[in-house]
Amino acid sequence: MAWLRTLCRVYRSSSSTSSWIMANRCPSTLSADMRFASFSSASTAYAGLGPTRPGVDKPRLVVLGTGWAGCRMMKGVDAGLYDIVCVSPRNHMVFTPLLASTCVGTLEFRSVAEPIGRIQPAISTAPGSYFFLASCTAVDPDEHTVQCETVTDQEGDKDSPEPWKFKLSYDKLVIAAGAEASTFGIHGVKEHAIFLREVHHAQEIRRRLLLNLMLSDVPGISEDEKKRLLHCVVIGGGPTGVEFSGELSDFIKKDVHDRYSHVKDYIHVTLIEANEILSSFDVRLRQYATKQLTKSGVHLVRGVVKDVLPEKVILNDGSEIPYGLLVWSTGVGPSPFVRSLEFPKSPGGRIGIDEWLRVPSMQDVFAIGDCSGFLESTGKPVLPALAQVAERQGKYLADLLNQIGKAGGGYANSAADIQLGDPFVYRHLGSMATVGRYKALVDLRQSKESKGLSLTGFVSWFIWRSAYLTRVISWRNRFYVAINWLTTFVFGRDISRI
Ligand SMILES: Cc1cc2nc3c(=O)[nH]c(=O)nc-3n(C[C@H](O)[C@H](O)[C@H](O)COP(=O)(O)OP(=O)(O)OC[C@H]3O[C@@H](n4cnc5c(N)ncnc54)[C@H](O)[C@@H]3O)c2cc1C
Repeated sequence: MAWLRTLCRVYRSSSSTSSWIMANRCPSTLSADMRFASFSSASTAYAGLGPTRPGVDKPRLVVLGTGWAGCRMMKGVDAGLYDIVCVSPRNHMVFTPLLASTCVGTLEFRSVAEPIGRIQPAISTAPGSYFFLASCTAVDPDEHTVQCETVTDQEGDKDSPEPWKFKLSYDKLVIAAGAEASTFGIHGVKEHAIFLREVHHAQEIRRRLLLNLMLSDVPGISEDEKKRLLHCVVIGGGPTGVEFSGELSDFIKKDVHDRYSHVKDYIHVTLIEANEILSSFDVRLRQYATKQLTKSGVHLVRGVVKDVLPEKVILNDGSEIPYGLLVWSTGVGPSPFVRSLEFPKSPGGRIGIDEWLRVPSMQDVFAIGDCSGFLESTGKPVLPALAQVAERQGKYLADLLNQIGKAGGGYANSAADIQLGDPFVYRHLGSMATVGRYKALVDLRQSKESKGLSLTGFVSWFIWRSAYLTRVISWRNRFYVAINWLTTFVFGRDISRI
């Protein structure tokens, strides 16, 4: 129970500096001194970290989220200027561009996950910096506090510890809580489809795929059931859906044909898209992707999903598509947490920000990444939900916060007179997507309308792999990724169902 030990550390260190550390509930596994902290108080206030004292404590920077934006920001922040307190339901960053490769065993799950303590070591070592495995549930910008609730792995399990609520005071708050998969309110999606956003989603996909492969080989399974079990349906023809379909078809062509040869003729991939696949890419690249996917055996269907049932998808035209594995990848929208915040909002319902990534009309609150968007008043468009946007906003904000901290504006309500310098400017570097069979697309245009270089084929695939290998956040994971690629090339993918 690392999070309990951390909270005990919070209590011990903070009880000397802060006056309002009090608990309203306490799991039975807490250490003796923590219990004392809880039961000695009759107050109904939450446990947590109280306000910092200028001149005694360092200003406290609270960061919500360990995604591309939050992690890049924490990596760049000077831990000598701020105590960094990170709150997130996961203790690692996911290198999302390579997540699809983990679903079929091209890469191992650990290769795409980077623990937060490696990204910003101060979180593990500095006395006033912490990581809390929790979700933020509310923000009070007037009081400069956030309210949080611990997360456990056993949600829905009656024996799991009750979530524990606590409060944190901040001097600066960075909201980098990402977005959630859009389901457009279609019935059955949340219940029956698997999203592809987190490592546990990729694990679920891999287990389901291997389970279906093994079930379909069992004596007595009917032909129709075999076909259903081995029909992998992907909804959404954006880069994630296309890359996942490409990985699946590679897996089928190379590994299923060799190691599940009894059922190799039954396994199929169908990609359903309402419009055109890869609609943000250049038309030539779209045509190339369509040709390559079709060549690899991916069945492309133009259609709109109306309903998702446990074993079949119903389209708007009434056609029914049975499936054994259903992966949903149709873009993202604001999460319930973001929707619940009574903050100014950008078009599309994201947290509204100005050119310096601040939430206007609130002191000391910033928002970056997929959860944020420029307010209409800035005259700038809402940026796409991309890692390259999130990463660059994270870097910009780290520099800005360092500048504010150095100028003495780190504490709450103390930065009003500080010159912020140049606003954040985003320049798109281009897009890439792999389509399987050692082929990829590279689109170096700055926008859909502008002209620029676009490449396809093996060279693009090589650029894709090299670019992502260099972008992987640590040398440790870079090494893991390179070794995984080599092992897969030489020995094939790992098909053990662990
Ligand atoms: C499979 C896949 C492939 C992708 N490929 C590419 C690509 O090739 N190129 C590209 O540019 N983009 C890609 N993207 C998009 C990119 O990953 C996102 O745009 C990027 O992750 C956004 O970063 P973020 O930090 O805003 O959000 P995220 O990375 O989603 O992180 C959000 C964080 O906030 C945490 N959080 C959520 N709610 C709360 C809460 N209430 N309190 C505290 N913490 C909370 C989450 O647990 C998470 O740690 C891909 C996305 C996926 C899913």
